[in-house]
Parts: sequence; C-alpha cells; structure tokens
Amino acid sequence: MVGIEAADMVVVGIERLLTMVASDWGGVLGVVEGAAVAIRDGRIAWVGTSDQAPSSPIIIDGAGCVGVPGLVDCHTHAVWAGSRAGEWRARLSGASYAEILESGGGIHATVRATRAATDRALVDGCAARLSAALDRGITTIEVKSGYGLTAHDERRCLVAARRAGQQVGVRVLTTFLGAHTVPAEHRATREAYVRSILQEQLPAVREVADFADAFIDRGAFTLDEGARVLRAAAAAGLGIKVHAEQLSVTGAAALAAELGAVSVDHLERMPPEVASELARAGTVAVLLPGACLYLGDPSPPIQALRAAGVPMAVATDLNPGSSPIGDLWACATLSCVLMRLTIEEALLGITRNAALALGRPDLGVVRVGAPADLVLMAPPAGEPAHEDALVQRLDGHRAELVVVGGRVARDRSGRAASAQKLR
Ligand SMILES: [Zn+2]
Repeated sequence: MVGIEAADMVVVGIERLLTMVASDWGGVLGVVEGAAVAIRDGRIAWVGTSDQAPSSPIIIDGAGCVGVPGLVDCHTHAVWAGSRAGEWRARLSGASYAEILESGGGIHATVRATRAATDRALVDGCAARLSAALDRGITTIEVKSGYGLTAHDERRCLVAARRAGQQVGVRVLTTFLGAHTVPAEHRATREAYVRSILQEQLPAVREVADFADAFIDRGAFTLDEGARVLRAAAAAGLGIKVHAEQLSVTGAAALAAELGAVSVDHLERMPPEVASELARAGTVAVLLPGACLYLGDPSPPIQALRAAGVPMAVATDLNPGSSPIGDLWACATLSCVLMRLTIEEALLGITRNAALALGRPDLGVVRVGAPADLVLMAPPAGEPAHEDALVQRLDGHRAELVVVGGRVARDRSGRAASAQKLR
C-alpha cells in the first residue's frame, strides 16, 4: 500500500471493516480484518491494515468494533407535524390504512397539522428525527415533502429538511412529493390539484429539491397523473423516484423504468416480469420492510429482482403512520426476516445501494477519495464484532463513533475525545 503523508485522523484496530468495495478487497462486502482508515480534508485518504497505517496526531482505537461506511437512509418522510398514534388504535380495531385515508385521516391528518405548524416547529421536529438517525450511524438521509400539498407548504417542508440537516450535521437530500395524495380541499377537483402541482408547486420547489416522487396507487394518483408530474419534474431538472405497486398493481414500476428513475420504491405487489425492465434502466429497487410489517403486506418479488440483477436498497420509510420506524439497522434485519434478503444484500442495501438510489455512488462505501463518512458499530452485548451478529439482532445496535465528512459527530464512549488528549 502506498503511504501518505500524515493524516488528520486515523482509526486503527477495527476488527472487521466492511468497505462495501468488493473490487478492492474481495468478497461481497470487501472486508478488511484488523483494519485502519486514514482521513484527510474530509475525505478517506487511505484504507488498509493497522500495521501499515500512516501517522497522525489523532489515532482513534477501533477495537471491538465493526467498521462500516456511514449508513444511507434513502427513503423517509421525516418532516411532519402532529401525531397519528391515535390511528394506530383504530387500525388495531380493524380499520385498514386505505379506509382511514379515505375518511380524511392518515396523510390528510398529518397535512392539517403540518400546514398549521410554524417553520421553527417543522425544523425542530425534523432535526430531532435526524439526530436520532445520526445516533444509529446514518450519515445521509433522504427526506420527502408531501404533507404540505400547496406550493407554499411543500417548499416550507423542503427548506425545513435542509435546515434541519445543517443544524444536526447530517447530509440531507430532499424529494418533492406534492403528488402524495389529493388534499381534502381538492377532493372534487383533482385535475385542478394535478395542475397546481405542475404550474405552482414545481416552480416553487425546484431550487430546494434534489428529486421528485409520486405516489401512484389506489387512493393516491393514477398512472397517467403520476406520469405527467414525473415528466414535468424531469424536465425541470429533478431526479425521479416513484412510490410504486405498494397497495395495488398500477404499472408504476414499468413507468419508473421508462422514465429512467433513479429508484422505484415499495414494490410489494410488483409483477415479477417488470424486474428485467428495472435492470435495463439501472433503476434501484428500494425495499421498505417497516411498511410491510405495519401494513401486513407481502414481500416484494425479491427472487425476480435478484435474478435480474436489480440493485436492492433497504430504507426505513420513516413516517408518522404506515412505517413509524427510524432504525435502519432494524430495517436491515427485517428485510432478512420478512423478505429473505441475505446478510450481504441487507448490508449493501443500507449503504452502497442506498447511495445509488440517491444518485451518489461516492457515498455508502469506504474508498480512497470518498467523503469520510465512517461508523464504528459495537456488537450487541455478548456477541462478536461481526456483521452476522449486527444483522441477526433486531435491537441492541450501538454506534460507538460516527464521522461525517471527516468530522466526529458522535463519540459514544469517548474514543475520539481520548485520542485527542494524547496529542
Ligand atoms: Zn414512502
């Protein structure tokens, strides 16, 4: 390994480092045992074994930990106001998600609370969720709008998400989801609402959104409506994502492939034959096991996606109703339990493939030149420092050290603080 001049920071003694770069280190996950990672100017400067690590004034001990790239949660609805805990009671009494939505609850209830919230409250609520994500080792998170549903409120939500990301020190990418549901005031005039997305909302949000998304499903938007919104968004320079085939089969996954979408998300009812179209288009399939769990939905057709070579990502779908879970490690485990992903697929799904679902191949990997997003995970109590133990357990994950862009953002047991004292 070619040496480098002194690094800003070196993490040494990492029991197993999962680089997610098979081409550099072999195996599916590119594992380095007894690893060290050097960081300089916010980027990964060197990766290798500890005995060859370059010198640095700050040497952090990675003993007892599994090293992973900063996790990427590539599908969340993390900016909202209000609570839907009361609806959970109704659902347990037999009301379906679709029934609650049609009777003015669900997304509609969150829209009312979000419109009524101040800018400050939206930023603070989102920042609290992003801070919890950072605690778990998530360093990049996608946040959708979709609870504003007016040009003013959609823009407010996207700006709040970006402000919250700056406040917390997490990398945030934003997605405009004006086509989340037809708001209550437009129930009798849905065409006017679609036109307001095209003519008012899109121009208002294009500067503060990285992507646009549409919920094409029963109770939401038709394939034709969704296609109009997504084509206009693409023409405005936004990347494309689609909520597809979750509650019913609509043809939205094939549309996503046709439009060259960066990702197509949910897919619980996707016809297996669509997988080859996604593979050809290079569209990432984003799996959302939290929603499957809470709604009791079937697994997406994993075997078909795998056979076609479609990259699979796993995300939380964090939202106040259908997937009230922000723990990406738990979702990786649930993807194995509910969808039968392999441990390697689950881990690639919350790192490298999740970054691809955001059009960021430089993230979700530990590779020289990449942004220095690095996480040290302690295994659950009594378990070995091995990825199998991390993905087997639904709970007990502890991020010991979280580095975002070369900056220590979490230092759970003072490893970085004590390293600095040695200077
Ligand atoms: Zn969603």
